Amino acid sequence: MENKDKTSKLKVIIVGGVAGGASCAARLRRLAEDAEILMVERGPYVSYANCGLPYHVGGVIARESSLLVADERVFREQFAIDVRTRCEAIAIAPDKRPSIFAIRSPAR
Ligand SMILES: Cc1cc2nc3c(=O)[nH]c(=O)nc-3n(C[C@H](O)[C@H](O)[C@H](O)COP(=O)(O)OP(=O)(O)OC[C@H]3O[C@@H](n4cnc5c(N)ncnc54)[C@H](O)[C@@H]3O)c2cc1C
Repeated sequence: MENKDKTSKLKVIIVGGVAGGASCAARLRRLAEDAEILMVERGPYVSYANCGLPYHVGGVIARESSLLVADERVFREQFAIDVRTRCEAIAIAPDKRPSIFAIRSPAR
């Protein structure tokens, strides 16, 4: 996360949303207000309650939408985080500068 060039913005790409990725993105925004943050998630949801799934399957939680914690709009509008769902990271090269990063976004 080190940004040696003090004149340029910190740029961070987070692979995967949900528990770790979405928490990381929100925390990072609080730590670095002007950072450029991109979060790619290969699934359709960026933040949902995994632990509630058994209750939904068992009928205790009736609506699937009750499991959704925050959607793309919340991350964009409240945290200024660029979120891309249905978008899979297929290559990274962290030893290169700038890091090479490739994503694949199937048709929605
Ligand atoms: C049914 C169930 C019940 C659970 N109940 C509990 C509980 O009660 N208490 C508890 O503490 N924990 C519980 N857990 C575990 C908890 O949900 C996990 O520990 C937690 O989700 C792990 O978070 P994570 O961010 O590491 O991984 P994940 O939640 O798996 O998130 C990783 C995300 O990264 C995305 N991803 C992966 N590779 C790529 C790629 N190349 N490009 C783009 N996106 C990618 C995936 O699509 C995924 O959405 C439960 C899990 C399940 C499945």
